[in-house]
Amino acid sequence: MKIKQFCVGDIGTNCYLIYDEASLEGAIVDPGDNADKLLNEIDTLHVTLKYILLTHAHFDHILAVGAIKRATNAQVVVSKKDAYLFDAAASLSPFGAYGRQLMDQFDFPGADIWAEEGTEVTFGGMKAKFLCTPGHTPGSCVIQLDDSVLFTGDTLFCQSCGRTDLPGGNWREMLQSLKRLYELPGDYRVLPGHEGLSTLEQERTSNPYMLQAIRG
Ligand SMILES: [Zn+2]
Repeated sequence: MKIKQFCVGDIGTNCYLIYDEASLEGAIVDPGDNADKLLNEIDTLHVTLKYILLTHAHFDHILAVGAIKRATNAQVVVSKKDAYLFDAAASLSPFGAYGRQLMDQFDFPGADIWAEEGTEVTFGGMKAKFLCTPGHTPGSCVIQLDDSVLFTGDTLFCQSCGRTDLPGGNWREMLQSLKRLYELPGDYRVLPGHEGLSTLEQERTSNPYMLQAIRG
């Protein structure tokens, strides 16, 4: 299992290319921008991209989905509960002038597979499973890769968590989702949607929001 991290777009979203070095089958998590750079990497590594896995549908996680899907024919997996964000105006209007600048770039082809609780896809001998973790958006998911990695999107960050003040956000649900992650058995590498990386055990020990969540 190889995972390459890319920081894409104006907001600095973490996009991850996952692939198996033997079969060269792969998937990409949250291609939020810079489609040319990502496609160049996929091409250089000779990866056959099977899936585009989305932790949620905020614009900074999906702006390169259209271009990558057209180039690779990979299947887009995302929660139906975030479908309200598939429309450019609805997605970008909360961001005012900055959002209006991005209207021309908004290019989302829709979902091929709706991610629900426990939805699994396999590629390159690996299994990616969706855990519904609403709060940041109604359709936010954590993507569990085998028993080793959690792609936590904008739900769990290193020592922080995602904002809940955008349309569809819900602080009470965020706390429930953080509690759920706290209670997952075992340890995982935590690869969030923004900023630094972590482990679940490190977050259990010292993430102030996760600790608030378990205090109830
Ligand atoms: Zn977000």
